[in-house]
Amino acid sequence: MILAAPLPMQPRGWQQAWRDSVRDPRELLALLGLEAEAGAVPEAALAAFALRVPRAFIGRMRHGDRHDPLLRQVLPLDDELRTVPGFGLDAVGDGAARVARGVIHKYEGRALLVATGSCAINCRYCFRRHFPYAEETAASGGWAAAVDAIAADPSVSEVILSGGDPLALATHKLAEVTDRLRAVPHVRRLRIHTRLPVVLPERVDDALLAWLSALPWPVAVVVHANHGNEFDANVDAAMAALRGAGATLLNQAVLLAGVNDSVDALATLCERGFDAGVLPYYLHQLDRVAGTAHFEVDDARARALHAALVARLPGYLVPRLVREVAGDASKRAL
Ligand SMILES: *Cc1c(COP(=O)(O)O)cnc(C)c1O
Ligand code: SF4
Repeated sequence: MILAAPLPMQPRGWQQAWRDSVRDPRELLALLGLEAEAGAVPEAALAAFALRVPRAFIGRMRHGDRHDPLLRQVLPLDDELRTVPGFGLDAVGDGAARVARGVIHKYEGRALLVATGSCAINCRYCFRRHFPYAEETAASGGWAAAVDAIAADPSVSEVILSGGDPLALATHKLAEVTDRLRAVPHVRRLRIHTRLPVVLPERVDDALLAWLSALPWPVAVVVHANHGNEFDANVDAAMAALRGAGATLLNQAVLLAGVNDSVDALATLCERGFDAGVLPYYLHQLDRVAGTAHFEVDDARARALHAALVARLPGYLVPRLVREVAGDASKRAL
């Protein structure tokens, strides 16, 4: 496939683009020509978890379509207020796996740093709506406690920057933790889980690329795109730049009812991602956190969708279908 030439990015910095995000659902709906829907904005859902969407992401939504798969990921709905048995506050047992402030060590060899509670976008299906970030970010205190915990455990060979979204931190803040980690000989790999190159591609700027290029470890960047429409020429350019800085790019999606729960949507996501140089990694079953039940796809349908993907795509374009189960030694294959 031949991609359109990348559009020039906005000359302003990414923080400005982030500050310009839309926070008012009425404004979001008006931008999409959906003013008629604005009367139905559920204030209680909005109060529980704010709306936040970068304009670059809104630009990829279909005008006039209230079922747009990107819109559904960010628009508050009354469904979020329903109490559904089995949907709780700590769905994946993170509380139990905490080893230091902002450090979660669940799996062999991998320590995950909750680098920050911030994100550029608020995704309605996210566990983050309930996580106690104020006490829990690894960046607080100059990362000292987090890096000490990693240094004290020689079994840790991979450090995962997660969040929130670690790329919501300023690049100099990211450099602080990697500078400290250079002194830890058993660290061999760095992984970054981020949605920013997709939702705010302006984030992939010269300073970020210079930092990435100078890291002493192989780096994997796991971007979180859930739908093929999340890619456009600016996102392609951001992905190309990340690869140019030496990163291996992977995608992790969440299977979401009304967003990507069809074979066509999933196949397009995997193929469109590869056009941008991103290999599929995981397709996650939803974490069962309160307020997200309307996004759930049951396991039988999830398996059927995955089997259809296996039948349609080359093996390297099929993500692993997994669920996170508290207490397991790895993500659980379905
Ligand atoms: C998901 C997760 C990881 C990474 O798991 P992989 O299977 O290696 O992608 C690491 N730590 C925590 C706490 C996680 O939730
Ligand atoms: S952690 Fe990821 S899924 Fe959750 S709100 Fe942030 S970007 Fe969205």
